[in-house]
Amino acid sequence: MAVDEARQNCGGDDQERLETPVSHLITSLLVAPDIAPIFAEEYRALRPRAPMPPIQVRFRRFTSLNTTIRLREGQIFVSLSDLLEGAPEAVLHSIAHILLAKLYRKAIERTHQMRYKRFASSAAVTRQTELIRTARGSKRYFGPEGRYYHLEEVFDALNLRFFGGLLGRPDLTWSEHHARRLLGHYDAAHNTIVVSRVFDRPSSPRYAIEYLLYHEMLHLKHPVRMRGLRRCVHSREFKAEEARFPQLAEALAFIKRIS
Ligand SMILES: [Zn+2]
Repeated sequence: MAVDEARQNCGGDDQERLETPVSHLITSLLVAPDIAPIFAEEYRALRPRAPMPPIQVRFRRFTSLNTTIRLREGQIFVSLSDLLEGAPEAVLHSIAHILLAKLYRKAIERTHQMRYKRFASSAAVTRQTELIRTARGSKRYFGPEGRYYHLEEVFDALNLRFFGGLLGRPDLTWSEHHARRLLGHYDAAHNTIVVSRVFDRPSSPRYAIEYLLYHEMLHLKHPVRMRGLRRCVHSREFKAEEARFPQLAEALAFIKRIS
């Protein structure tokens, strides 16, 4: 990992990226034999009379769509994010075109640019990127002790009250920022419940943070199920149990006020 980061920092003129680099990249190389011909084809289209250099393409485990191309001693080395491994061939052609055009400082064709953008922003890719980032990326956590509330204390009290003390306590942490859009979430990959700091103030009633934590605890108890292709996050059983929270209406009203 350190080696790769060093190379990123001192990348010379012959290195270009499709996206900004990410800090968490995991070094694991997979050779991609059938992608090199696509690059050769796009190279030929871009530079009809220039000699064809050897081209080596590898997939690399990145946490984003980060992709690099380098020219070294007459050879082209390409690293593609493994998120692109299942990309349609047309998209791979576009990526090849964009990287080669950047490498040789040629104009990028609009159709290729658009196709790549559309692919990169498509919902499926976005979701997959997020999932993989969650699973792989290292995260900074800030601990359960707030200024006014201690998440472990609130968790333990709720556990006794609603779950007979049977729920295993995951890591609990306040969020870094006073997030208003994402108030709380259970991160299954890290077995961590994150609660927005907006609840850690004297004006925030205890039942509000209790409700929020209770909701996330129900996620622990009711893991996400697949119903066909749909992810069933808040099942009927989940909702029925959530309705048992005594100050549900007050808590929801408070959340509506602050968000
Ligand atoms: Zn939920």
